[in-house]
Parts: sequence; C-alpha cells; structure tokens
Amino acid sequence: MASEDAYHKAFNNNSTWRRSLAETDPASSSAWAKTTILGLQPGEIFCHRNIANILVPTDINSLSVIQYAVQYLKVKHIIICGHTSCGGIAAALDNKRLGLIDTWLMPLRTLRRENLELLESLDEKERGIKLVELNVRSGVKVLQENPVVIDAVAERNLQVHGLIYNVGTGELRELDIEEGEETVKSRKTAFRVE
Ligand SMILES: [Zn+2]
Repeated sequence: MASEDAYHKAFNNNSTWRRSLAETDPASSSAWAKTTILGLQPGEIFCHRNIANILVPTDINSLSVIQYAVQYLKVKHIIICGHTSCGGIAAALDNKRLGLIDTWLMPLRTLRRENLELLESLDEKERGIKLVELNVRSGVKVLQENPVVIDAVAERNLQVHGLIYNVGTGELRELDIEEGEETVKSRKTAFRVE
C-alpha cells in the first residue's frame, strides 16, 4: 500500500463496508475487488493474485511483483491474504487428481502432511480454515526470507502482514505473526545477503 496509514484505513473501511453490505446484499464472495473490501482507491493498493494465494520462493511471477512493489513503488505494507471457502485449499484437503493444478497445489499438500494430526482432529470446516491460516503463515515466512523484503524491513521498516478474509461476513482477520528475537536473528544470519 502506498501511504503510511492506508493499512489502518483499510481496516476501518472494511467494517464500514461490511455494515453497508449487511443492509443491502449479505451475499459475499472472494471475487470482490480488494479496493471494494478495503475501501481504497485503485492507486493505493498493488495486487497480485494466484490460485490459493500460494507464495513459494521460486515463483518468478510473484517475486517480480514483490520486487517492483517494494523497490520501485516503495510500499509500506505487504499483505498475504487468504480466504475462507477457498477452492484450492479444499482441493489440497481432498485426494482427487486434477491435473496440472496438483503441481501448483503441492505446497499446500506439504503443509497438510506437516500438520496432518492437527488437521485430522478438526471438523471439515475448521480444517479448511486451519489450512488457509497455515498457508498464509507459510507465505508470510517466504516474504520475510525474500532478500528485497529483508532489505526494506531493515532500511525503512517495511511491514509484513498475514490476513484471512471471511467470504461469509466480509470480515478481515489479522493473524498474529509476531516473532521472538532469536527467530529474527537467525533469519538475518541465514538469509541476509549484501
Ligand atoms: Zn481461494
């Protein structure tokens, strides 16, 4: 986002928008434009979308978007946003062969394997939401290990956020991604390049 308080403005706008939506049309969807959900002007947000908002360290498309937004647009906030009722997440929690998309969804299956016990202990709806959350957290981590992001965090305090958009209510929830000092230190040691 371009301006300092655009991130906080977006949260306020989101509650206002939800109230107006409840009065007019309660039907909500992940297809709403981000500018609508956040009440921002098109120039205030630079958006990249892909299936199931998966961020992997080697995807040239999302990496280019990140570099452009951070180094040239000088955004102050980067958001990884997942959403409830996500088809990609549902596919990764199922075992049907879908073709090429199975390859794209592979990082979600890895998360599923790593958290299998937890996910299996939940009911279907909760399981979906949990994998959405794990996927956002994983994307946030990839962002935090991105060299362009590492530099911007150190030089101008670029903020990284993980959010979940509830398509039923239109609500945005921010995940707590606060880290301990040791984690931050070890990331710097392992990922900082000059
Ligand atoms: Zn989705």
